Amino acid sequence: MYDDLKGKVAVVTGAATGLGKAIAERLAAEGAKVIVNYHSNKQGVDEFISVIEENGGTAAAFQADVTKEEEIKSLVQFASDTFGSLDIMVNNAGIENEVPSAELSLEEWNKVINVNLTGMFLGSREAIKYMLEHNIKGSVINMASVHDRIPWPHFVHYAASKGGVKMLTETLALEYAPKRIRVNNISPGAIDTPINEEKFNDPQAKEEVLKLIPMGYIGKPEEIAACAAWLASAESSYVTGITLYADGGMTKYPGFQAGKG
Ligand code: NAD
Repeated sequence: MYDDLKGKVAVVTGAATGLGKAIAERLAAEGAKVIVNYHSNKQGVDEFISVIEENGGTAAAFQADVTKEEEIKSLVQFASDTFGSLDIMVNNAGIENEVPSAELSLEEWNKVINVNLTGMFLGSREAIKYMLEHNIKGSVINMASVHDRIPWPHFVHYAASKGGVKMLTETLALEYAPKRIRVNNISPGAIDTPINEEKFNDPQAKEEVLKLIPMGYIGKPEEIAACAAWLASAESSYVTGITLYADGGMTKYPGFQAGKG
């Protein structure tokens, strides 16, 4: 538990499901006041907010599409109006779809880049602007992926977006370090969330993924939420511009594990 998170105000984008939901839950359990951003599933989010409140936490829901500049501005304004601040911004919303690169339409390319990269730029920029205006030494956390460094055929738009997020984060970290606004990435490996549901429901596809994970299991959302809680807290006060790989060793060349090569 991180005592300094008590009373802090956090926004988590794409928090209706998966990693965003786990992060929102963890930050609320730490005593932060959490804005749960969602895209469309209002009923699911309302139920989620009730669960947080039943567990003694504080949270409110806000619908916004992270690709829309005005909606992201409204999201930050809502955090300020509802809970009086913005100390932690978790830009988590993301999408992926499989298409051979030679067949990828410009429309599909733009869709993924808009959510995964432009959305994180808008969320980071609006959060940093707010923190500067209010002299807040805040924490911005962007959700990249192991595919910010592992090439991924059939997912070129996704890999390009996550590589972009890595440099977005590092550049912002350098730029705003003098203001003590920290900006960091989390890069998960394969985690059990709805984005992977179809793949992990297919035993053969799941087995193929497991071969890529030296630790031998699919990560749990709570394991990524733990990284976010640490990066949000003062326990990581001297950490900025890092990419925290939470991947069971996936980025460590698993093909070499048995001394091959
Ligand atoms: P998920 O599909 O459960 O969550 C993504 C969330 O983003 C959904 O709730 C969705 O509604 C929301 N979203 C999509 N477009 C949006 C928009 N325009 N505006 C607002 N919200 C929007 O999957 P997840 O695994 O929880 O993914 C969360 C993040 O983690 C993504 O950025 C993803 O790329 C990243 N990631 C996931 C894994 C994994 O294995 N699960 C691995 C690496 C990175």
